[in-house]
Amino acid sequence: PLTTADLIEEHKICVCVRKRPLNKKELTVRDLDVLTIPSKDVVMVHEPKQKVDLTRYLENQTFRFDFAFDESSTNEMVYRFTARPLVETIFERGMATCFAYGQTGSGKTHTMGGDFSGKNQDCAKGVYALAARDVFLMLKKPNYKKLDLQVYATFFEIYSGKVFDLLNHKAKLRVLEDGKQQVQVVGLQERDVRCTEDVLKLIEVGNSCRTSGQTSANAHSSRSHAVFQIILRRKGKMHGKFSLIDLAGNERGADTSSADRQTRLEGAEINKSLLALKECIRALGRNKPHTPFRASKLTQVLRDSFIGENSRTCMIATISPGMASCENTLNTLRYANRVK
Ligand code: ADP
Ligand code: MG
Repeated sequence: PLTTADLIEEHKICVCVRKRPLNKKELTVRDLDVLTIPSKDVVMVHEPKQKVDLTRYLENQTFRFDFAFDESSTNEMVYRFTARPLVETIFERGMATCFAYGQTGSGKTHTMGGDFSGKNQDCAKGVYALAARDVFLMLKKPNYKKLDLQVYATFFEIYSGKVFDLLNHKAKLRVLEDGKQQVQVVGLQERDVRCTEDVLKLIEVGNSCRTSGQTSANAHSSRSHAVFQIILRRKGKMHGKFSLIDLAGNERGADTSSADRQTRLEGAEINKSLLALKECIRALGRNKPHTPFRASKLTQVLRDSFIGENSRTCMIATISPGMASCENTLNTLRYANRVK
């Protein structure tokens, strides 16, 4: 049977879906008509864990992915089949990215480990921390140990097309592109990290910075992309980079008709960046010579990751099980389906 590594080797891209459990609110929804319309869980994940079925909502709506995780899955399981194989990539001088994509409330931040506030959230068990743990484990292997690699981390946010450093009091940063198309985020803090605990501390700093000064933390974080990076350097030169991204909620498209101008602009910006992201990942998967990375700040900042022989990407599309989320769930599944 194929392993994750094989799948990624073949396609450079791995796309999976993760369904979260019903929450309290969804559990208390009364069935409209118990016999005909189930209003609670409308998403089914089928063996062998590749098929997602929305036929309880709309006929003929089934999708296939590299993996589909049901509500019993843990972060560790999801991680093992998505980001874990990409840790090798950065040790082999490659660029890796892992995206969490989905509507607000579907479990992106829970998966990535970008929040301390929720009761059942523990950032030490999220993808950011699990990847860091494995980077430090890998560093001890003899063939990598002899390379004498240094590990650094950055954490920033892209909000309305602007970049803010989460490790430096949300300092606003400029993005420059030189004549050789190299993209640089000017002044981005790159912190030296020696162990997983160092990384956890930075995640904590970044997370609290991300949500500070906002009346509604979730409202803000759902409108911005958070980018956490683990960088390997050898004698100062970049050896490999792993970017782990908690994307803005994909339901924001609806905001483009909002009465509030700022909200409209934010919605348009999010749509633009998610569309650009899809095109860039598709270009990578098809080995196309042209990658439209300039179409948004997100893709521009991640330029290196979409270009080159040794770039690998995985996407974790998170979905909510409830009837009320169906429209968004369908959009998420369609997007994830198109990425590859
Ligand atoms: P998003 O970042 O996509 O907006 P969150 O990660 O904040 O969504 O998740 C919304 C809520 O659902 C949080 O309270 C979170 O703890 C919970 N949740 C999400 N995914 C899961 C899961 N797989 N298992 C248990 N709780 C989850
Ligand atoms: Mg979130």
